[in-house]
Amino acid sequence: MTGSTCSGRTNASSRRAKCGVLADYFRQLNEAELRHAAVWLSGHAFPCSDQAPHYTGPGVVRAALLKVTGMPKMEYRQIERGLNDLGRTTEIVLEPIAGERNPSLPELASFLESLRATSGGSAKAEALAVFFREVPAIAASFVVKILSGDLRIGLKEGLLEEGLAVAFGVDAAEVREANMLEGDLGCVALMAFSGRLHERKLRLFHPVKCMLARAEPDAESVLSHFSGRLPVWVEKKFDGIRVQIHTDGSNARVFTRDLKCATGMFPEIATAAASLGRPVIFDAELLAWKNGHPLPFFTLQRRLGRSGDDLFLGAEIPVMAFVFDVLMFDGNSLLKMPLSERRSLLSQLELTAPLRIAEVFEARDATNLNSLFETARRSGHEGLMVKDPMGLYAPGRRGGGWIKLKKQFATLDVVVIEVEYGHGKRRGVLSDYTFAVRDDSTGAPVAIGKAYSGLTDPEIAALSDELLTLEVSRSGNKLTVEPQIVLEVAFDAIRESSRHVSGLALRFPRIVRIRRDKAVDEIDTASSARRLLTTCG
Ligand code: AMP
Repeated sequence: MTGSTCSGRTNASSRRAKCGVLADYFRQLNEAELRHAAVWLSGHAFPCSDQAPHYTGPGVVRAALLKVTGMPKMEYRQIERGLNDLGRTTEIVLEPIAGERNPSLPELASFLESLRATSGGSAKAEALAVFFREVPAIAASFVVKILSGDLRIGLKEGLLEEGLAVAFGVDAAEVREANMLEGDLGCVALMAFSGRLHERKLRLFHPVKCMLARAEPDAESVLSHFSGRLPVWVEKKFDGIRVQIHTDGSNARVFTRDLKCATGMFPEIATAAASLGRPVIFDAELLAWKNGHPLPFFTLQRRLGRSGDDLFLGAEIPVMAFVFDVLMFDGNSLLKMPLSERRSLLSQLELTAPLRIAEVFEARDATNLNSLFETARRSGHEGLMVKDPMGLYAPGRRGGGWIKLKKQFATLDVVVIEVEYGHGKRRGVLSDYTFAVRDDSTGAPVAIGKAYSGLTDPEIAALSDELLTLEVSRSGNKLTVEPQIVLEVAFDAIRESSRHVSGLALRFPRIVRIRRDKAVDEIDTASSARRLLTTCG
């Protein structure tokens, strides 16, 4: 990108070089420009705090490109298929007719805002076509990349944080922490710019990214991870939806792991939290729960997207939030406090249904862990979460303080990259999915397997429609799609294999569920899949 416009591209490859390029770029922007640039470079069209969707998917972009160029569909498809990148396709097809007016970053921001406010796919395509006619092809291509949340310039959030630190001569760790607390790199960029990073703090009704867990395949590897720091703390691994519950003592809100507000879907949780009458933030897992037992995950899914005012649904599918951590207590942030102290504060609270404190057990050896694991599995839970009692709460990070143990039922979170029409009764629907894990260094999806089974017919039909809107290119029966649909897949073994780009292949893969709650950057990496090689083979 150059100066205060949105065009340009860098070939910087090494981390340090990229960081330097970023820092130079950030330094030449004014405040308004800086905020937008940081948000867009982190792969979002709008700040995370501004969650309304823009509904400008590949279909709308394609319609706009065809309209503005008058290009025959076949010719367009050929280019798109060859490049397999909507941003690049935009640049190539617009080149002959491109305009010359380089929009400033604030202009671009107001264009994106008005595009979001425009209702209906064809009106959006019309607005986009007008924009495409005016600006240089490279600027149009970046706008498309921003809209699709896929810049493909090898920038990870960590690198952007470093770039900001270098640009404004501040500590990278402080920038990182501010980003965890704010969840909005645009806002953090402004804090770094104006020397206000010290103002970062945990705030009520302002969700922070969840602490994440690393996976280990068996009890022995879990214990060797904690290397002698015994006993470890053990909780059941509940198979539901991660929620962060905020209350100031009279009002309460429930947020999902993607920081979206879900209070309307689970009003009984908010009411119970507000009745505590003190300012707290809980980290919890929400389960569909009846007669002392968890109900299957798909039962809980029926409450997603529905209003909790639907009393019938609330009674039919009751929920329970198992609170396993507390991030704020009586208004004080506990993030820098060890788990044992956070838990001791939590235990002072008398929670009543549908809130319940998750039980903690201690384990000193593999025999302890294995027997806790068996008990958890028998009572319908997914496995165990093993935690370091001295560990601090690390928002948004797989710090190693939490380890998940799901052995005997290994699963990976993957993203769908290609899909094919099925056979027999599935002839008319896209039902054969090729999926990928994330390459550790580039973050790009790398194929690891294919699955055909696990979803119900209605799920397949709905997913099929959705995948058609994500189509990037088509070859015969097979569509390449934008990597957006996250699946959890189970399998019997992982083996080395040259069949897929990841160098790995799964034996008997089957889809456990669609993970609507997980973002694409949260899927498993090739190296985390590789760690399961020895135990599942
Ligand atoms: P996974 O979804 O397999 O990556 O496992 C991590 C998730 O397990 C977390 O993000 C939580 O949503 C969930 N979870 C279930 N039980 C617990 C627990 N006791 N402590 C922390 N996370 C838990």
